[in-house]
Amino acid sequence: MQIHPTIAGLRAALADAGRVAFVPTMGNLHDGHIALMRQARSQADVVVASIFVNRLQFGPKEDFDKYPRTFENDCARLRDAGVDILFAPDEQEMYPTPQRYHVEPDTAHITILEGAVRPGHFGGVATVVLKLFNIVQPDVALFGKKDYQQLMVLRNMVRELALPIEVIPGETIRAGDGLALSSRNGYLSAAERAEAPRLYRQLERIRSRIVAGERDFLRLETEAVAELAAHGWQPDYIAIRRRADLQAAAGSDPLVVLGAARLGSTRLIDNLEI
Ligand code: AMP
Repeated sequence: MQIHPTIAGLRAALADAGRVAFVPTMGNLHDGHIALMRQARSQADVVVASIFVNRLQFGPKEDFDKYPRTFENDCARLRDAGVDILFAPDEQEMYPTPQRYHVEPDTAHITILEGAVRPGHFGGVATVVLKLFNIVQPDVALFGKKDYQQLMVLRNMVRELALPIEVIPGETIRAGDGLALSSRNGYLSAAERAEAPRLYRQLERIRSRIVAGERDFLRLETEAVAELAAHGWQPDYIAIRRRADLQAAAGSDPLVVLGAARLGSTRLIDNLEI
């Protein structure tokens, strides 16, 4: 696996590449990331991964400084997964001057759910992903459904800006007890880790109730929030939405239920398609 810390080096390496699949990450790789790498491997001649902890998408009180950085381990895992090229720039390479040109996603997409709790987050994500797309110029890019709203925002960015890139979603990879794998799971204490699958179980419960014909979405959401709060969580939202744009569901729209809640000092998010 080639490792390129510079844009110039990466571009030279990709000069004669065939079909390129790209998987952007912030590192601290787990089996969810690796599943995306393997999916990418089946899509293209050359698989490019990136590792860059993007300051633009973190709020001032969020965990940018303590976000886990495990570069050597990550490289070993990427090699095992058959990744050809790792782009691993430092901040100076990505943001040699303060980034003053920003992508501003659709207000309707970034003022709800994660966007309501994390103002500026999706603008920061869209800006770095567009910049990474310009650097890598992939044919396909893969993103996890774990970050469902992110996937929706990036798909819309690609469509509205007519980027010649196919966005491919990857299924959420979970631990045996249902907890969605996440770099932030490492912040959990042993007791919190044992409690953490409750978020997934609440989403599962909502899914099975809807599949069984329940249509009172507000009641399902409210019950799940109360159940989490009763077990020491601080829920941000449990929301049953239509998949396409995460707005209120109507009629027979395909649905997704999304949840986010803080457990101790760790914020967990998850979702399930219904
Ligand atoms: P991150 O490093 O957290 O920015 O994530 C990089 C990519 O991996 C994103 O497209 C995420 O949606 C995806 N991802 C993170 N966790 C999982 C998971 N448990 N299953 C599948 N994809 C994931």
